[in-house]
Amino acid sequence: MVKLCSYCKERNRTPLPECPDSECFVCRGASAKLEKMADEAAGKIPQGWKSFAVSTNVPREMMAREEAVWDYGLGRSVKDDFNRRIVAALAERTGLGYDFVKADGKVVFDFAKGEARLENADLFVYGKYKKFRSDIAQSEWTCKNCNGKGCEECDFEGVKYDSVEVIIGNAAKALYGAKDAELHSSGREDVDALNLAGRPFVLELRKPDRGKLQLKALADAVNTRESGVEITDLQYVSNGEVALVSDSHFDKAYEAEMEVEGGFAHEDAGKIMALAGSMLSQRTPHRVKHRRSDLVRKRRILGLRILGEKPPKIYVLAEAGTYIKEFISGDAGRTEPSVSGALGKKAKCIKLSVVEIRDGFLGDVLGY
Ligand SMILES: [Zn+2]
Ligand SMILES: [Zn+2]
Repeated sequence: MVKLCSYCKERNRTPLPECPDSECFVCRGASAKLEKMADEAAGKIPQGWKSFAVSTNVPREMMAREEAVWDYGLGRSVKDDFNRRIVAALAERTGLGYDFVKADGKVVFDFAKGEARLENADLFVYGKYKKFRSDIAQSEWTCKNCNGKGCEECDFEGVKYDSVEVIIGNAAKALYGAKDAELHSSGREDVDALNLAGRPFVLELRKPDRGKLQLKALADAVNTRESGVEITDLQYVSNGEVALVSDSHFDKAYEAEMEVEGGFAHEDAGKIMALAGSMLSQRTPHRVKHRRSDLVRKRRILGLRILGEKPPKIYVLAEAGTYIKEFISGDAGRTEPSVSGALGKKAKCIKLSVVEIRDGFLGDVLGY
């Protein structure tokens, strides 16, 4: 004869007979134990949490047994019911709100193991990074030769270059005890380009052992002379800000040092300045052709200045997505007009720095 505990009987609105909690056909006493688990969980929630999320793990067999009972009267599912009771029980015990998206952490009720445990929420840290070295990539750059295992070609490090992502990510993983870190950013600079302006990013930290630490600790860990990377404007944000940052495209200003075939003549300055305000047609550069689709983009040169003639150096403010090296070289006719074309002799960018990223609206949205 199928018998149920008082909770399961009530939930299923069934005429089946009642029995002691531990003998319940459906939950084997889990329903009654829930309140005790809530006591346990509430005691573990650290001070400083403003809200919590809940994850309920109900064994598959329990749900299967419940379906059998539905032949005798249809009620709410055990998982749904447990969820509601857990949220109510925790809210009552802690005075905290329930917030699935912005919670400081998740309370996991594991009814297979009969225990409740806490998991810190994944963390999202907004900031801006500068890059002072011309030998580091933005994102982790796995060695293609060995696929990250380590070989002679990569000095047995598994990566081709140091990267901003790994430098910030490793520091953050160590501080927070996180399993995984990923850098989301708006665009990127080339490995050999410097970024003196500060590019917006959101660092995603998965499964951290610790919650929201003071962000100064992260800045101190990253901003060392050796790292060649500096992070500023740090603040905790929510998941939603990842898309805001990585989908945004900003106009940028650069300083580019050039090499001009046959030398830079004084009248060359005027020829270059004639390109100010021009609309470029940029066919996908030869050097990135293998990973970008081959098409022609229209991008405007918004500002142009001659910074020096020996060596020739220019300031370029350009629309988001402009390829500056190709604006200078012309990329064998793939970019027009170009500095090379205007001068009538080959010009090449030998040093490129991002000096400004026009990201003003982000500050308005994020409120810094
Ligand atoms: Zn039961
Ligand atoms: Zn390798």
